[in-house]
Amino acid sequence: MNNLKCVHSYNGLRVANNGTVMPCCYYDEESPLKDLNGNIIKTHTHSIKEMMESPDRISLIKDLESGIKHGACKRCWTDETNKNTSKRIEDNERFDTDYNKSLKYIELNLGNTCNLACRMCNIGASIKWYDDHLEIYDDEGGFRKDKDGYKKFVKQFYKSFEDDSRFWEEFEKILPQISAFDIYGGEPMLMKKQWEALEKSVELGYSKDQELHLATNGTIFAEKYFEILNKFKKCVVTFSLDAVGDRLEYIRHHAKWNNIETNVDRWINHPKNKNIEFDVAITVTNLNIYYLDEIVDWCISKNLTPFLIDVSRPEFYASYNLPQSAKNLINKKFDIYLYKQELPSFILESIKGSLNNMNSKEYDMDLWFMFKKKNGILDSNRKQSFTNTFEELNSVI
Ligand code: SF4
Repeated sequence: MNNLKCVHSYNGLRVANNGTVMPCCYYDEESPLKDLNGNIIKTHTHSIKEMMESPDRISLIKDLESGIKHGACKRCWTDETNKNTSKRIEDNERFDTDYNKSLKYIELNLGNTCNLACRMCNIGASIKWYDDHLEIYDDEGGFRKDKDGYKKFVKQFYKSFEDDSRFWEEFEKILPQISAFDIYGGEPMLMKKQWEALEKSVELGYSKDQELHLATNGTIFAEKYFEILNKFKKCVVTFSLDAVGDRLEYIRHHAKWNNIETNVDRWINHPKNKNIEFDVAITVTNLNIYYLDEIVDWCISKNLTPFLIDVSRPEFYASYNLPQSAKNLINKKFDIYLYKQELPSFILESIKGSLNNMNSKEYDMDLWFMFKKKNGILDSNRKQSFTNTFEELNSVI
C-alpha cells in the first residue's frame, strides 16, 4: 500500500471555532481529538502538549503511514479522486515535516465574531446568524423553547477566544516555534487579541521567520493591520469572495460589494507592500456555480489567483444538489467558457474539478427540497430573492 503521509498529522493543529482541536481544517470537525481518558480536548481545558500527543493523532499517523485512508480525512480523499490534488498533497510540498510531532503549523478559527451572515455559514462562525440559526438548524425546536440553553450553546463558540481566556496565554508561549499560521474567522480582522499577539511576534523578532495566511471577507482595511502583516517573512491575505455585485451581497449577507472592491484595491495596491501576496477563495455552492465565470474574470482583472473550494456542509448548498436540468445548463455554459484562450491552466483545472464534483452525484429530491425550504426561509428573513438574483439558474429549476 502507498504511504499516505501528511505533514499535518505530525505538526499541524487546527483550533475550531468552538475551541476543539484537530490536525487541520480539512479533518472532520465532528471527530475532534480526544485525550487519554477519551475526553474531547479543548483550548481552555487542555495543554498544547496534550493536543500533540492525543491518541487520535497517533492512530491517524499510523493509518496514513500504512496507506489507510483515515475516515476523518475524507475531504482529502475526495479531492484526490476528483481533482488529482488535495490539502495533504499540496501542504506536504509546501512544508517540512518534523517526525517528532512538534507543533509548527497552526490553523486558527477564532470563534464567531463576524460582521456578515453568509448563506453557507452558521452560528459557529458568525454571531450574525443568532436568529437565523434557530430557524435553519434547530429542526427539533429545542433551542427555541430553551433560550438559556441556546445562549450556552452559542457561548462555546467565543468562550475560548475572550480577551482573558487561557488560549491567548498559550498562543503567546508557542509563538517562537511556529513556522506558519493560518488564521480564519469568524472575521479575523475583528479579533483585537489576535492583532496584539501578531504584534508581539513582530516586536520579539519571530515574524521575520514566519509565514502567515489570513482569510478575510474583504470588508475591512486598516493601515495598522497592513503594517503588522507586512513585517512577516511572507504573508498571504485571502479574500473570501464567491460572486460579484448583487450575487455577492445575496450570498454574504450584510456585505456591500462596492465597499469590498474599494478595500481590496487598498490592500492590493498599497505602495509600501513588500511581503504580502493576495488571492481569492471562492466557496463553490449550488448558488454560485453557474456564475463562477463572473468572479473568476474579476479575479483575473485584478491579477488575483482564485482558489475554488467546494462546499460539503451544509450539504443542501453542495453544488451537486441541483436538478439535472440545471447541471446540463451549467456544463454547457462552461464547455464554452473553458475554451477561452487566456484562461490560465491552474484556473481551468480548478473549474473542471468543481464541475466534476457537481456531476459526481445523482440528484436527490429530499436534499433539493431542503435547499428550497431553508434557502427560502433565509430569503424571507433577509428580504432577498433567489429568483431575482439568480435568474438564469432559476429559469431551469
Ligand atoms: S490527510 Fe488531509 S484531512 Fe487528513 S490531516 Fe492531512 S490534510 Fe488534514
